[in-house]
Amino acid sequence: MLASLKLPKATLSKEHNEFRLEVRSFLEEEIKKGSFHPSVDSWMGGYSIEFSRKLGEKGWIGMTLPKEYGGQERTSIERYVLIEELLAYGAPVAAHWFADRQTGPLLLKYGTESQKNRFLPKISKGECFFSIGLSEPNAGSDLASLKTRATKVEGGWLLNGSKIWSSGAHLSHYMLTLCRTEEQKENNKHAGLSQLIVDLSAEGVSIRPIKYLSGENHFNEVFFEDAFIPEDHLVGEEGNGWVQSMQELAFERSGPERILSTYPLIEEVYQDLLTNNDFEGMKKLVPIISELISLRQMSLSVAQLLEDGEDVNIAAAIVKDMGTRFEKNVAEEIRLIVNQKPSQFSSNQIARLISESILHSPGFTLRGGTTEILRGIIAKGMNK
Ligand SMILES: Cc1cc2nc3c(=O)[nH]c(=O)nc-3n(C[C@H](O)[C@H](O)[C@H](O)COP(=O)(O)OP(=O)(O)OC[C@H]3O[C@@H](n4cnc5c(N)ncnc54)[C@H](O)[C@@H]3O)c2cc1C
Repeated sequence: MLASLKLPKATLSKEHNEFRLEVRSFLEEEIKKGSFHPSVDSWMGGYSIEFSRKLGEKGWIGMTLPKEYGGQERTSIERYVLIEELLAYGAPVAAHWFADRQTGPLLLKYGTESQKNRFLPKISKGECFFSIGLSEPNAGSDLASLKTRATKVEGGWLLNGSKIWSSGAHLSHYMLTLCRTEEQKENNKHAGLSQLIVDLSAEGVSIRPIKYLSGENHFNEVFFEDAFIPEDHLVGEEGNGWVQSMQELAFERSGPERILSTYPLIEEVYQDLLTNNDFEGMKKLVPIISELISLRQMSLSVAQLLEDGEDVNIAAAIVKDMGTRFEKNVAEEIRLIVNQKPSQFSSNQIARLISESILHSPGFTLRGGTTEILRGIIAKGMNK
């Protein structure tokens, strides 16, 4: 029995719906101005400094942070509404994504006063971008066996090692890097890990792109060779990095981005079927839309639990497992409805979005924890 699973029904208020309309009208206006073309997986691939700055000016980055650090003190449900709309419109939000979603909240919880004053206002303005430095060549699912090592020196650390699959590192200012600050103990792999803020332009840091199937560069290998990290770049307590990183992952797993990566394709096909009065096609789209509605309700429930300060570990794993399989299947199912040959370079929007969906989707069930790992978490929860 899943004793730990709670999914209370979350409902959105009139104010939430008004806010949604405000976001929509801003996005419609931006599309009209030509500031972006909707794309699939825009939280990973849609990079625009100008667009991030515009969102920053509107108070739509770091919006849950306290006002004294540049935030708006809005709720995580309001943020949820904003994110849903940004993703549904395929808006270019990749530049600030990680800083907004996880580094900001993490620094708020564990950062020193000086780190909060230094980084949070810039994050909220869309002027400071972070990438996530967790995975290493031999430490992905088994993250605690990572080897990147920081050695204490006068005034800080010397960092040596490498990270892999680091999304957006080539476009970010900093990487929040999980590394070993003490030798690994045989009986406790999780001890002796710490989180350091690494300036990606510092001497001793180099970045090498890894190409997607589409040929685009979204993620990277990042190498550290005696990179000096000042001591005030330690986040939280030395040795507490594992606990902190696991909390960071809680912000990652159940958000709308685990369901909506391919939504712009669904919307485009829906509009096309409607315009052409294609009711047969519409019938085939119905199961996709109903699955989406159920997943969205589950994801919203997890957002409500997070807002209430509840433990969402198992619920978030279920939403991510089901949500990422759904968003991955969308392209295959839609190919059976529309008669379009996928093409990255087509002027036909549906052909382009199907192609983007196919080329991006292999990563959906890997990033943020693989399906098998999530199912391990769920299985352990069933035994409680
Ligand atoms: C698009 C994308 C973006 C990413 N961005 C980032 C990023 O910004 N920063 C970052 O740090 N990382 C990032 N990652 C890395 C991601 O977190 C890892 O790919 C993931 O954790 C899996 O690790 P791995 O690739 O080393 O695979 P492995 O851990 O080697 O796993 C390989 C296969 O074995 C299975 N497996 C492994 N262990 C077990 C087990 N115990 N039981 C059952 N099956 C198991 C896995 O499920 C998987 O199918 C990104 C990945 C992708 C695809």
